[in-house]
Amino acid sequence: MGIPFANATQQQFVRQLQKRIVAQQNTFVVTANPEIVMYAAQNQKYRDIVLTADYISADGIGIVQAAKTLHTPLPERVTGYETFASLMSWSESQSRKIYFLGAKPAVIAALTKKVATQYPHIQVVGAQDGYFNDDTKVAKTIQESQPDIVFVATGFPRQEQFIAQHRQLTNGLWMGVGGSFDVFVG
Ligand code: UDP
Repeated sequence: MGIPFANATQQQFVRQLQKRIVAQQNTFVVTANPEIVMYAAQNQKYRDIVLTADYISADGIGIVQAAKTLHTPLPERVTGYETFASLMSWSESQSRKIYFLGAKPAVIAALTKKVATQYPHIQVVGAQDGYFNDDTKVAKTIQESQPDIVFVATGFPRQEQFIAQHRQLTNGLWMGVGGSFDVFVG
């Protein structure tokens, strides 16, 4: 489908991202699930945005199977939620700064509460629900707080559009995580 998926296991993928965070390298990650891949195939503008990412993970067993059929195999499925969860644990061990953007107000409130108790060393430098109108204002708060990681959970295509537009505001990692905040709070 013309999408250069990262040729890495889940563990290798997370390690690469950790290295880039430590090196303060600006990074854009797309975890491409089947919906994202199908949408990108039909929408040139979105596809162009996805192709600006530094890493595109194959978040679907169908993608892994298709890669095998095409003789360009990928080691395994690399999911958005696993990547999010692994980066959360690592950030706790490293006292990293995270900005959480997206999901409903009640979900983001539950998330900050859970992080405070289960990941007390993570520095939550921002927690903004995904129902905002003023992108510029939100982007400014991200720039001012200089997070190591910005998780954007506003659903596709909006999360990738937002990241592509604002990623240069930090030296950290930006990743669209879809419904991961909802899953995290349970
Ligand atoms: N969401 C949001 N703002 C919006 C629309 C959706 O923050 O304007 C959030 C929604 O609350 C959910 C997340 O985006 O937490 C993912 O939504 P969805 O499952 O529709 O997207 P997908 O996982 O398919 O990308």
